[in-house]
Amino acid sequence: MIMDSIEKALVFDGQVKVVAFKTTDLVNEAIKLHSLSPLAAEALGKVLTMAAYMSNELKGDKEKLSVQVTDKGVLGNIIVAADAGAKVRGYVQNKGATLPPLGNGKQDLFKGIGSDGFITVIKDLGLKDPYVGKTELARGNLEEDFAWYFTRSEGSPTALALDVTIGEDGTCVSAGGVLVQPMPNCPEHILVVVEDIVSNFANIGEVLRAKEPSDILKDYFGHFQIEYFPPTKPEYRCKCSVEQMANAVITLGRADSVNLLMERGEIEITCHFCGKKYVFGKQDVIDIWRRYDNKL
Ligand SMILES: [Zn+2]
Repeated sequence: MIMDSIEKALVFDGQVKVVAFKTTDLVNEAIKLHSLSPLAAEALGKVLTMAAYMSNELKGDKEKLSVQVTDKGVLGNIIVAADAGAKVRGYVQNKGATLPPLGNGKQDLFKGIGSDGFITVIKDLGLKDPYVGKTELARGNLEEDFAWYFTRSEGSPTALALDVTIGEDGTCVSAGGVLVQPMPNCPEHILVVVEDIVSNFANIGEVLRAKEPSDILKDYFGHFQIEYFPPTKPEYRCKCSVEQMANAVITLGRADSVNLLMERGEIEITCHFCGKKYVFGKQDVIDIWRRYDNKL
């Protein structure tokens, strides 16, 4: 049993960053929470995995980010939010969408997502304005799309191997990847060596099923002046609360919330990210609007 973790290191005297990550448990948690089809599981699993990696790179505890993959494929939009330290949550619009699979536990993400949409990353770094990076989907398989996002939008040329393999029973067999980013001005002879190592990850799923992320770093990069960082455990964590869902009642508007109450006797709001249901009775709704009015 290989546990989820994100392992990061610098190699070649700090000239190349390498990160190996395993997110199988995280993807299985998402499958369970949302009852995802295999197609939705691979797509959301890959975006959750990349958001876990990206949020692990955030510097401050209060920093957070969101990743949106938007296009016209059968899955609809994929939305993931993450807090510093690889705490992620997310959902896919059409979680039951299916297409004929490609075989070997692989799904047709190209058709599932679409081929002319965007990856948008919004980072809240506690500054006045958030950082917004947006790139077009290059291939719709998410692996090359995220590599292109880092290269184009964040200015960090990136080699990325990304895998989410879904088994016959609909659960995730392996998820994770390896990311390699040479620093600016990394000498050519090092780039050549790095390219050669990266070619080992063409079948990243097999590598992930055989090795711990820490062993991936050690086995492939350990002999190149390596400096390890402490590992992180990625986790599925929703932050929804009664207060936040009360705001959703406000968003419904006064007339609609009253109409709903009359019709059903209560208002039920389900969190998109974790499926938790929040039920507001008549008195709750009255209180929500009273608090709202007092604040105005
Ligand atoms: Zn929630």
